[in-house]
Formats: sequence, structure tokens, C-alpha cells
Amino acid sequence: MVEQLQRYGVISSKKVVEVMETIDRALFVPDGTPAYVDSPMAIGYNATISAPHMHATCIQLLEENLQPGMHALDVGSGTGYLTACFATMVGPQGRAIGVEHIPELVASSIKNIEKSAAASLLKGGSLSVHAGDGREGWPEHAPYDAIHVGAAAPEIPQPLIDQLKPGGRMVIPVGKIFQDLQVVDKNLDGSVSIRNKTAVRYVPLTSRDAQLKGY
Ligand code: SAH
Repeated sequence: MVEQLQRYGVISSKKVVEVMETIDRALFVPDGTPAYVDSPMAIGYNATISAPHMHATCIQLLEENLQPGMHALDVGSGTGYLTACFATMVGPQGRAIGVEHIPELVASSIKNIEKSAAASLLKGGSLSVHAGDGREGWPEHAPYDAIHVGAAAPEIPQPLIDQLKPGGRMVIPVGKIFQDLQVVDKNLDGSVSIRNKTAVRYVPLTSRDAQLKGY
């Protein structure tokens, strides 16, 4: 699967190849779900695990901000797949935080991570997943070099901009029906530059009630 993503030009970075080969997607999809097919898959609670090409695109966009020792936040961490990738890249001296508002998904993501190559980082404390409303970010370990949002926000939540480090980058799908994957760079003077990367379709970043009611 990773080879195919390289062949189709989705992945051009060696680091992205390495991390996606290290963190096995099969450990993160529900039993009986095909792991290496390039499409999103249902994970319950009206949520999905993103397609491998979206995982690859987001890791690659954030690569410079996922160097050893850096801090990363994964909002709407779902299965925990990307949180585990981020933790692997920032290493034991760094910090990777997942925030997910469905407690059952938090619990299952921790089980997934425990089976993966990122298990020792979870045990060592540089990787953690928390139940909470990701629209508030996770102030405890802010500011972040990298913020990834795995669900589409009607607009970029201000707390996430506030928790981005100068020089940091956030990748976030923005919009309702028509969504763009936006790349938000915080400049050293604190201003932000935003560009649209590509049209995407994610589940909404919303309240737990709205999500469980089917939006
Ligand atoms: N990157 C994850 C994507 C999961 S889908 C993966 O590939 O596994 C998006 C996730 O965002 C869902 O698990 C959903 O429950 C979560 N979510 C939606 N709104 C949220 C909010 N306000 N706070 C935290 N998590 C949220």
C-alpha cells in the first residue's frame, strides 16, 4: 500500500514511507475491515479512519514540524493511527497528544497503540490520548509545532490557533459540505498564513451529541 502511494505520487518523502511502514494500519482498523485499501473505513460512533492517502498527505505536510523533540497535537484522533505516527516521528524527547471526544474510541485507540510499534512511547509518557472536546485544543502541552485536525471545522477554532507555536503548522479540513484541507502557518511575528491544499471530505468537528445523533 505504501509503495502504491509512492508510485501515485502521494508520498515523496522517505520519512513518511518509514513511519507508515512502522505503524501498521492493520492494528488500527476494526476486525474484518480491509486495512490496506485506499479509502476511509467506518470505526463506529459515526466516525471513520481516514484513507491512507489522507494520512500520508497530512504527515507529509507536517513533516518539518514533527522532528525529534517537537510537540504535536492530533485533534479527533479516532483510531489513534496518526497520533502513533506523530509520536514515532517526534520520539521519546518529544510529545504527541491525541484528543478525541468519544471515550470509547479513546479506549480502543489506546489498545491499538499498545499493539503497535509506538507502544513504548505510550508507556514512556511521550504519547497520550485524552477524552475531550478537541475544539479547545489541549493547553497542557501547548504550544505545538504541529497540529492535525481529523474532522472538518466550520471555521478554524481560535484555541487551536492560539496553541500553535510561532513557526508551527496546522493542517485542518475547513468547511461544511464543501471542504478544503487548509495549511495554517504561524509566522514568527504571530500572524498566520493560510492556504488551501486540496478539496476533501471529512466527518464534522462538532459536539459529541450532534455526532451520536448522526449530525
Ligand atoms: N485521524 C482519525 C480520524 C477519525 S474521524 C483516524 O484516522 O482514525 C474524526 C474523529 O474526530 C472522530 O473519531 C470523531 O469522534 C472526532 N471528533 C469530532 N468532533 C470532535 C471534537 N469536537 N473533539 C474531539 N474529537 C472530535
